[in-house]
Amino acid sequence: MTTALATLAVILASIASTSVSAKTTCSVSLHALGVAQDGGKPQIGNSDDPAWDDPALRRLATSLALIDHRDEVPRRWLFEATPDVKAQMHMLDQIASMPDRPLDGVFLTHAHIGHYAGLMLFGHESMGADNIPVYAMPKMARFLASHGPWSQLVKYKNIDIEELHDKHPVEIAGDVTVTPFLVPHRQEFSEVVGYKISSDKKTALFIPDIDAWEDWDALGVSIEDQIAEVDVAYLDATFFADGEIPGRDMSGFPHPFVAHSMARFAELPAREKSKIRFIHMNHTNPLHDPDSEERRVVKENGFGIADEGERYCLSR
Ligand SMILES: [Zn+2]
Ligand SMILES: [Zn+2]
Repeated sequence: MTTALATLAVILASIASTSVSAKTTCSVSLHALGVAQDGGKPQIGNSDDPAWDDPALRRLATSLALIDHRDEVPRRWLFEATPDVKAQMHMLDQIASMPDRPLDGVFLTHAHIGHYAGLMLFGHESMGADNIPVYAMPKMARFLASHGPWSQLVKYKNIDIEELHDKHPVEIAGDVTVTPFLVPHRQEFSEVVGYKISSDKKTALFIPDIDAWEDWDALGVSIEDQIAEVDVAYLDATFFADGEIPGRDMSGFPHPFVAHSMARFAELPAREKSKIRFIHMNHTNPLHDPDSEERRVVKENGFGIADEGERYCLSR
């Protein structure tokens, strides 16, 4: 086996699909609790989506969970509080239940609905949470604290906002750190960040939303360099290609199409390509279809597609 192939095999082996029990051999694990764009799949108003009739085709909005199993009681963090957080908390309970406290923290990327609107379920009318730490950038923090209904969560101490700063790591559990970094994306109510999630062994990159890799180039940051620094990269795959939404000119859509990303990354070594797990797929994205030609092509080109429920082990 060549070195590249051997490395690929190791990377693939560390991505395991889990449904219930992930404790066992991995002490710090990352779980994809959702892989769809903000509106989930099927999306509101799309009655002809076969996912309405077939629950196996449904996908929750993009979210990752980080679990530290090293203490007797596991510690759990969410990345994003999506509109599907109710189902995602249930998934999390099945993987690692924590009877005494719901979460050790929630990291938010930005103020688009798929990424924070689930906070509402932490409030008085639903969970009635007690000071769940919510990590957010300064503008996002101010937005939450000063606009209802989010401000009520702060007032009633359902959540406790912790301010993040660009490229400043937050140490959440000894050797586990989370580092936000600004990315160019429609900044309507807040900054937009991605995250690096690191243990002393592995680092994951999470960029669910970005306008264009080239906008980042213009700011002096290359996505290829970012991928080189990590072991796995969950990257924006909102749309597969132009033409995906009938009757709409998609050329100005603020996301890197998967077809474009694949072309841009075509010359990367196989080892680098295999780190990529495409995520945040719109309900129209053919990558949701397990039998699509597009899905076959992505995999044939050496890239990965995040599956709901998959686990990535950060501790070995
Ligand atoms: Zn989004
Ligand atoms: Zn967004």
